[in-house]
Formats: sequence, C-alpha cells, structure tokens
Amino acid sequence: MVLARTVGFGIVGGCQEAEFGFEVLALVDEFRKLVHHLRNGGTDGHQLATNAGLVGVRRVAGLVIPQVDGDLGRVDRCPVYGGRWNRQSVGVGIAGTGSDLSHGNLHVGIVDVLARFPSLRISMAQLRYSVHRPPGYCWHMHAINVSKTGGPEVLAYTELPDPVPGPGEAVVALEACGVNFIDVYQRTGLYPVPLPFVIGQEGAGVVVAIGPDAGPVEVGDRVAFTGVLGGYAERALVPADRLVRVPEAIETDIAAAVLLQGLTAHYLVHDTYRLGPDSRCLIHAGAGGVGRLLIQMAKQQGATVFATAGTDEKAELAKAAGADHVTVYTRSDFQAEIEAVVGERGLDVVYDSVGVATFERGLALLRPRGMVVLFGQSSGPVPPFDLGALARAGSLYVTRPRLGDYIQGRTALAARTDALFNAVVDGDLTVRIGGTVPLAEAAAAHRALESRATTGKLLLIP
Ligand code: NDP
Repeated sequence: MVLARTVGFGIVGGCQEAEFGFEVLALVDEFRKLVHHLRNGGTDGHQLATNAGLVGVRRVAGLVIPQVDGDLGRVDRCPVYGGRWNRQSVGVGIAGTGSDLSHGNLHVGIVDVLARFPSLRISMAQLRYSVHRPPGYCWHMHAINVSKTGGPEVLAYTELPDPVPGPGEAVVALEACGVNFIDVYQRTGLYPVPLPFVIGQEGAGVVVAIGPDAGPVEVGDRVAFTGVLGGYAERALVPADRLVRVPEAIETDIAAAVLLQGLTAHYLVHDTYRLGPDSRCLIHAGAGGVGRLLIQMAKQQGATVFATAGTDEKAELAKAAGADHVTVYTRSDFQAEIEAVVGERGLDVVYDSVGVATFERGLALLRPRGMVVLFGQSSGPVPPFDLGALARAGSLYVTRPRLGDYIQGRTALAARTDALFNAVVDGDLTVRIGGTVPLAEAAAAHRALESRATTGKLLLIP
C-alpha cells in the first residue's frame, strides 16, 4: 500500500511548532485523498482544506505542511519519532503556534476537525501530547497519585509532569485504565509500594513517544500492558518489552478490560492446575472480573464448574458465563450445596480469590491430592496455617500464585497474550465491561469494587 501508515496532526509554522506531532491510527477516505494530494506536492492551504472537507474550521486558516520543499521538512527529523518518521509519514499541519495549543486555543479547531473525521481514533490526550520541551517548560498530565496509604480518599487526581521515555521505554496515551483488586491492596498498603506512586497496573491506548531501543513498539501502535505501575493516568511510561500490540479486531477498551484478568484466568486453568474434561473445580466470585473469564476458560477445557456469587443477579452472570452450578454463598453454605451434588471430597481444585471467608471450606471439598489455588483475598488474607492439616486432609496442595511469575520475559508474555487475544477475536471469550468511571473519580471505582457492587470489569476513562 502506498499510502502513509501514519498521519500526524501537527502544529506547524515555526521550528518549535514543527516538533509537535500527533498520531492518528485510522485512515478514512477523506484522509486518503488528502494524503494523496500531499504526496503529489500540493501545498495550497485552501485547496487542501477543500479536499479534506475542512473549510470553515475555526482557526484553520489553511492547512500547511511543515517547510514543504519536496519532502516533509522538519517533521521527519523530529526527535519524538526517533527517526521513524519518514516519507511514509505525513504531517498535516494546523496553522497556529505551540503556545496556542498549550493555552488550549486550538482545541476547538481540532475538535471540529475530528468531528469531520469520526472514524479517526484520536483522543484529546494524544492531541495534547508533546515531547518538544523548550528549556524550563513542561507539559502536564493528570494521574491518580497516592502519597499515603488508606481508604479510597487517598486517591488524588493530580497534575503531574508528562512522562518522558528513556532507553527501552515508551509513553502510552491511555484510552482506558483497568481497575483491579490489586490496586486496592496497594492503596491500603497490604501490598507495600514506595510512596508516592501513580496507582494502576493495567491500561490500553496508543504509543505516543518512544525512547532509544524501544524494540517491539513504534509510535502509533495500539497497545496494552499489565503489571507496570502507573496505569491510572492520561499517559503512562512503560518498558517497551511489557507492551503488547492490540489486534485490529479488538477495541481498545476491551483490551484494557481483559489483559490482566484474562492472563490470570489463562495461567490458572492451563498451568497452575491444568483442567481437563474430567476435572471438577470450584470458582469463587464467579461474576467478578477474573471469575467470569475463569468460568469460560474452565468450560472450554471441558471441566465441570461450580461457582459462587454474592447475589442472585451475580449468580445469573456466572451461569451465563457457563458455570454448571452456582451457589449464592451469602445466604447458602456452598460446601453443603456442592457436597449434595458430588459427595464429600468431590472436587479436584478450588480457585479461591476470596480468601479468609472461603479458604477452609475449600480445603474440605478436595479429593486426596487436590489443590487449593489461593490467588487473592477479597474478603481478607488467610491467617497463618498449620501445614499438617494438608496431610491429614489427604496430601492436599495449596499454592499462592501471582500473574507476574507466569508472564516473566517477553516470550511468555507474548505467548499467553496471543492465546488470550485469539480467544477474544474468535469469540471463545466474552468480556463484560461492568462499568466505566472517569479517571478523576477513581475513588468511586474503588468504593464500588470493595463494596462488592461490581460485576465483570471496571474501567477508568482518562
Ligand atoms: P472481582 O471483580 O472478582 O471483585 C471482587 C469480588 O470478590 C467481589 O465482587 C465479590 O464478589 C467478592 N468478594 C467476596 N467477599 C468480598 C469482600 N469481603 N469484599 C469485597 N469483595 C468480596 O475482582 P478482580 O477480578 O479484580 O479480582 C479478584 C481477585 O483475584 C482479587 O482478590 C485479586 O486480588 C485476585 N487476582 C489475583 C491475581 C493473581 O495473579 N494472583 C491476578 C488478578 C486478580 P461476590 O459478591 O460475588 O462475592
């Protein structure tokens, strides 16, 4: 294909302005025409505006190409793109100045432009991104900063300096940030993190800047990450080798919703305890983020799935995900209900993310040499435990796994992510986004998660 793979909206005019650049990931017909025009040497602003259907856009007196003199001038030497801008990249300039942008004056114009190209996947976060920083000048972004541990009220919506990528790093303009229970543990201090820190372990968006040696990614790539702190933010600094490309067929919010919890479900059923058609398992909190995905994957392995859920509505969600038997464990004893179906000690494995409230009854349901996979503690940590009880109950196993240990290294991360994304693309895995909350209201998201009010995945939108 001859057309440009990257089209950038740039604020051009002077040297400083030429170094602003913004990524647009989709080419629409109008843009194809515009790119064609540019590539054929057209530079007349009115003509370009007409061709692009941009006439009348506020403050776009004419579209200008930065220093066009047969090629794309300064843009292809722009440091932000690490030399990756070339003649296949086209800068579409919106006349104005850098200071206009920094004061927001051009935003109305840009929004108008975008309104005319609804299929362009570009966000204001991306538009505002700049890596050209005159000495002493700094662009800012918003993030949720934690400077002391505690309740949801410690989640502070804060203006922070834009991250700048160093060697092997990339900056991602986030379109959706995943909320996970681990964020609660880090906020409360159960999992200690040096203070202050930008909370959040998961997000998806577009790479807007890379440092040297950023290996697997390029500016403009649609990516997702997990297991890197700094996810509740407009822009996140991520080691490039922890980024995974999001397939075309998966929406960015779905990628943000599925990565951490989906990878977790994947390692639990494939590696921690490998389920098969003869397996009988119990999955607690079956309507939760991990829970729904875990039920679906367990069913794909052919296992018989028992699940628990806190309410009737949640029980329906767990059933819809494929669970064979669901107990509303807030009003019924799940141990007794499961024993009524499979007899005493009838399960091979219990996937327990609830912790203290469920752990011991899980052990009591296991066959000899069965396994409790304790992978979380939504109800509180399991207290110190007499290992002799495992022998007395039939040589049982207990493991306390963490996702990080199952996606160590690029190869493991890529292989597991490929399997996960393929399952989503093939329709084998449905992802339920239970709610979206503005980034600034992260505290409300945590309150909802901790009060058991959520189902499926909760996302923060910057
Ligand atoms: P969920 O969406 O599952 O939300 C937590 C759910 O736990 C609640 O909705 C609730 O469901 C249940 N729950 C039971 N008791 C309580 C309680 N006292 N307070 C709050 N919730 C309770 O969250 P996630 O999917 O994000 O995470 C689930 C668990 O998995 C967490 O413990 C998390 O830390 C763990 N996890 C572990 C990973 C690992 O690799 N080890 C990776 C990812 C997650 P209900 O009302 O139906 O009981």
